[in-house]
Amino acid sequence: MNFHVLTLFPEMIEQGMHTSIIGRAIAGGYLSIDAINIRDYAFNKHQKVDDYPYGGGAGMLMQAEPVYLAYESVQKKLGYRPRVVYLTPQGEVFHQTMAKELAKEKDLVFLCGHYEGIDERVLDEIVTDYVSIGDYVLTGGELPAMIMIDAISRLVPGVLHNDVSAEFESFQDNLLEYPQYSRPEVWHDRKVPEILMSGHHANIEKWRREQSVIRTAKNRPDLLEKAELTEKEKKLAEEVQKEVKKSL
Ligand code: SAM
Repeated sequence: MNFHVLTLFPEMIEQGMHTSIIGRAIAGGYLSIDAINIRDYAFNKHQKVDDYPYGGGAGMLMQAEPVYLAYESVQKKLGYRPRVVYLTPQGEVFHQTMAKELAKEKDLVFLCGHYEGIDERVLDEIVTDYVSIGDYVLTGGELPAMIMIDAISRLVPGVLHNDVSAEFESFQDNLLEYPQYSRPEVWHDRKVPEILMSGHHANIEKWRREQSVIRTAKNRPDLLEKAELTEKEKKLAEEVQKEVKKSL
């Protein structure tokens, strides 16, 4: 999968995305991340890419033309119109299902805003998806782009050595992941749950599923509305939620 990031700060993307699992996936040829400097497409000698907003108001806006030319350089190279994600606090909030869907693309363009944002006309012309990473305002779209690239990359076949580890984790089936433990068996007087040492796989799976339901009911009850639960699991979730309410 190839990511193309349109940004005023390509060094942020280059420095942030070449370590650990993502760095290894790039070296292994599973992914590529190309940071395109929008300033290289400025049409004035000072490479200025921002200007005052019409109608007044605070701050500066990124102008349409350099953003468009940077996008066009990618589009021409690819020979087709790729999906373009504009990172914006006004977009749909990013979630795991969206990551899965975007992971099917061959190329994905991320457009990072700065200052007060970007001239609306170029957004209307090139953007296919408006995505936020949460209800707060950051100074630029680079960190949101990196967060999305990280989450999407893990779902690209070959990126995680053990493909199973992307399958059974939080948000799968709208449940949070169960608690996990590693060696030693006792740490600070806390013992690993007996069941995990039993070697009885069916019982371990049953325990893990229950723990997922309990965790989700405690920490993210909103997810349960979409989770497929048995009658027994629904009752368990209700009991946990009652306990949580009592403790408030
Ligand atoms: N004036 C804009 C508004 O109120 O919607 C906010 C602009 S923000 C200071 C500058 C840039 O940071 C945005 O263009 C966007 O690319 C990025 N950004 C800020 N917060 C974000 C968020 N929660 N999710 C995704 N991108 C964000």
